Amino acid sequence: MPNNHVIALHGGAGVKPERDYSEVEAHLGDLVSECEAILADGGSALDTVEHAVAALEASGLYVAGRGSAPNDQGFIECDAAIMDGARHRAGGVCAAVDIAQPIKAARAVLEHTPYTLLAGEGARAFAIEQGLEIVADRDAHYRLPVGVEPDEMLRLDEGLAHGTVGAVALDREGRLAAATSTGGLLGKRAGRVGDTPITGIGNWADGEVAISCTGIGEAFIYAGGARDVATRMSYGGASLTGACEALLNEVARYRGDGGLIAIDRHGSVTLPFNSHGMKRAVAGSAVRRFVGIS
Ligand code: ASP
Repeated sequence: MPNNHVIALHGGAGVKPERDYSEVEAHLGDLVSECEAILADGGSALDTVEHAVAALEASGLYVAGRGSAPNDQGFIECDAAIMDGARHRAGGVCAAVDIAQPIKAARAVLEHTPYTLLAGEGARAFAIEQGLEIVADRDAHYRLPVGVEPDEMLRLDEGLAHGTVGAVALDREGRLAAATSTGGLLGKRAGRVGDTPITGIGNWADGEVAISCTGIGEAFIYAGGARDVATRMSYGGASLTGACEALLNEVARYRGDGGLIAIDRHGSVTLPFNSHGMKRAVAGSAVRRFVGIS
């Protein structure tokens, strides 16, 4: 459909029934409307997903950006990736320390380097070179996201808590883009990197489909990740929903859970998950606006 536009957001797989997510729900609702207006005005899918994920990171409401939680050494390492389906270009950062907005660093990697991923110290040096904000006061910058208690790290034996944010968009020119950012798993081993910053696993966009994943990263890596959805569609003739369900079935086979948001070039959208809930929202010219948590 010409001039069709769609935006979908997620704020991470997994919700706890006893927690109050009303602030998250309101934030996702406002942000999805704001992003829809940007797209309706002719904004590009790439700029819109970067804007969305930067806002999700800056809110501190999710396990990404300001809401990231420390690793087992007590400091925060972030991962992020962004992909422009129209140009088939991607950028990412991983195990990034003190980069205030990891998705902006990922975009800079896409625009200003021939690489798809910069790690650790190198990512930090690159962010400084690009004039991006570096966290000066960690205690002032970071806050625990909604649904995470300060003592949660001490209770990891009850199961790993995790969270991620992501956005996928189709713009009026028919371009697709995806962006994903995470603080990873609570109490993860220092240096651990999951699926999120790896192009094709946690994040993918091409001419046909844009996908952002959330969940247990190792299971998404074993299952083939986001590009597996694109491949099932292009070589296998699968539908958007069929391909996404197939990925989640594989993730479950590797004892993981999670979810994803995906949009195809026709503006079809799906937000499936096999976790206990997934914070999510969608809006567009030809889809019913929806915000959901459980
Ligand atoms: N996929 C992220 C990771 O494994 C975590 C999440 O999405 O909740 O780092």
